[in-house]
Amino acid sequence: MASGGPESPDVVLVGGGIMSANLAVLLRLLDPRLAIHVLEAAPVLATEASDASNNAGTGHAGICELSYTPSRDANGKVPVGRALRIFAQFERSLQFYAHAAATGMVGDPAGFIRPVPHVCLVHGPEDVAFLAARHEALRAHHFFGEMRMTSDPGAIHAWAPLVMEGRKPGPVAASTGEGTEVDFGELARRLLGWLAAQEGCTVSTGWKVDGLSRAPEGWRVSARQSATDTRRILRARFVFVGAGGGTLPILQTAGLPEVRGLAGFPIGGQWLVCDEPSVAARHAAKVYGATPPSSPSLGAPHLDLRMLGGPRRLMFGPFASWTTRFLRNSGAMTDLPASIRPGNLATLLRTALRNRALVRYLVAEGLQDMGSRLVALRDFYPAAIDRHWRVVDAGIRVQTLRKEDGGAVSFGTEVLASADRSVAALMGASPGASVSVGIALDVIATCFPRLLSDAGALSRARAIFPAFEKDLAVPANAALFQRVARATRETLGLAPVDGIA
Ligand SMILES: Cc1cc2nc3c(=O)[nH]c(=O)nc-3n(C[C@H](O)[C@H](O)[C@H](O)COP(=O)(O)OP(=O)(O)OC[C@H]3O[C@@H](n4cnc5c(N)ncnc54)[C@H](O)[C@@H]3O)c2cc1C
Repeated sequence: MASGGPESPDVVLVGGGIMSANLAVLLRLLDPRLAIHVLEAAPVLATEASDASNNAGTGHAGICELSYTPSRDANGKVPVGRALRIFAQFERSLQFYAHAAATGMVGDPAGFIRPVPHVCLVHGPEDVAFLAARHEALRAHHFFGEMRMTSDPGAIHAWAPLVMEGRKPGPVAASTGEGTEVDFGELARRLLGWLAAQEGCTVSTGWKVDGLSRAPEGWRVSARQSATDTRRILRARFVFVGAGGGTLPILQTAGLPEVRGLAGFPIGGQWLVCDEPSVAARHAAKVYGATPPSSPSLGAPHLDLRMLGGPRRLMFGPFASWTTRFLRNSGAMTDLPASIRPGNLATLLRTALRNRALVRYLVAEGLQDMGSRLVALRDFYPAAIDRHWRVVDAGIRVQTLRKEDGGAVSFGTEVLASADRSVAALMGASPGASVSVGIALDVIATCFPRLLSDAGALSRARAIFPAFEKDLAVPANAALFQRVARATRETLGLAPVDGIA
């Protein structure tokens, strides 16, 4: 492809969060001739959902998230397929970040990733039995061979003292494996910093995209700089809309049949945060609990040590909150009403009617005061002292609702591409940033298939992802997985491979 300067690049990416950062950099690595322009509305990159304070920073790998292994089958076994898929996807992310670190693209990885135990904590006889069955099923796979489980309160106290102190006697169990905390915002800024330094590539902040229309050879992207009230028009053969909560309004301007009937429903998030050093010093894990019945996957509460992106602190949540904004910093209360069209009103109404339990959960969450949040915290940390905790806002997830789903809500993340593959967008919310490298590869496979099939590009892909064409989940590749995982973790300064879950 030939570029005609920053206003006519080959590729435009809208949004400067972790999703666009991964995709833009991978595209450039796979085809160094591509001219790429990233347009970000905010003055600073990655300050919405990807920012460290707006998400939990969990490198989701299926170790501690009970929602990825939700129920037992007829034989009493826990199906672990989803946990394995998410582990494998996060492994891809780690390989890409290790490549970026090893080649000097992102500086010292300690600035955006660090090891932290991921712990699952349950109580009550049923949940203890479930955790034992889950542990047995996961441990049978080489991804999770080192995972440990105990129902001994003393051993759990050694892993996470705060969750045991003051706890009433009763059945309790926990499992643990080596996980990560990731500052996805910092990582996105570093990746895009590298991109901006490449010839033919531009990263523009302070430019809000407000229109997407067909041009003779691709798309016309219209953007406005509010500080100077200036408008610019870019033309590109391929556009990726990675604008997080801002994605749906942009797609609605493009007149794509694929977007008709799509609706977005925002769910705000809040955390309880503890900055008290004497408390923060005594917790060194991410401890996830069971997902409350009828709540979406974002409802799984967890008590986390956070160290990246700020001082050492504890964070508990998330709690859902009501909002009609699609973006935390630059959104407006009119975002939700402005997104309603005759074609998606029925989608929204049908979803509300079909998901009464979810609606009740969101209403109850939205009505919570500090007192009820502290009650939820004490389920995890019985001896928590009120004055050590304050409420802070987290990022907003815009849940995509599709007409074809007949009112069903899925909490996954998916790629929407136009029939001619000239525009793609990331829809959905969870597990989000952790699997965003896999999502970027899906976009490339769908919209730039030659980059994963012609010989030159394939050898570049293999340099980034060792064992690119191999499925590391199959038992025959267990030794290969160990080798690749060990090298990846060494480069990123994570736990040694024997410590893998
Ligand atoms: C409470 C909460 C907890 C989470 N916890 C985790 C977790 O522990 N682990 C995990 O992996 N994921 C987690 N996630 C999900 C994760 O944060 C997101 O999936 C991920 O950050 C999305 O990245 P993104 O680049 O798509 O969106 P964003 O980071 O939101 O980036 C979108 C960018 O687009 C820009 N933009 C918007 N509109 C426009 C426009 N019109 N023109 C130009 N630019 C525009 C925005 O300013 C923003 O910078 C969590 C999310 C939330 C809300």
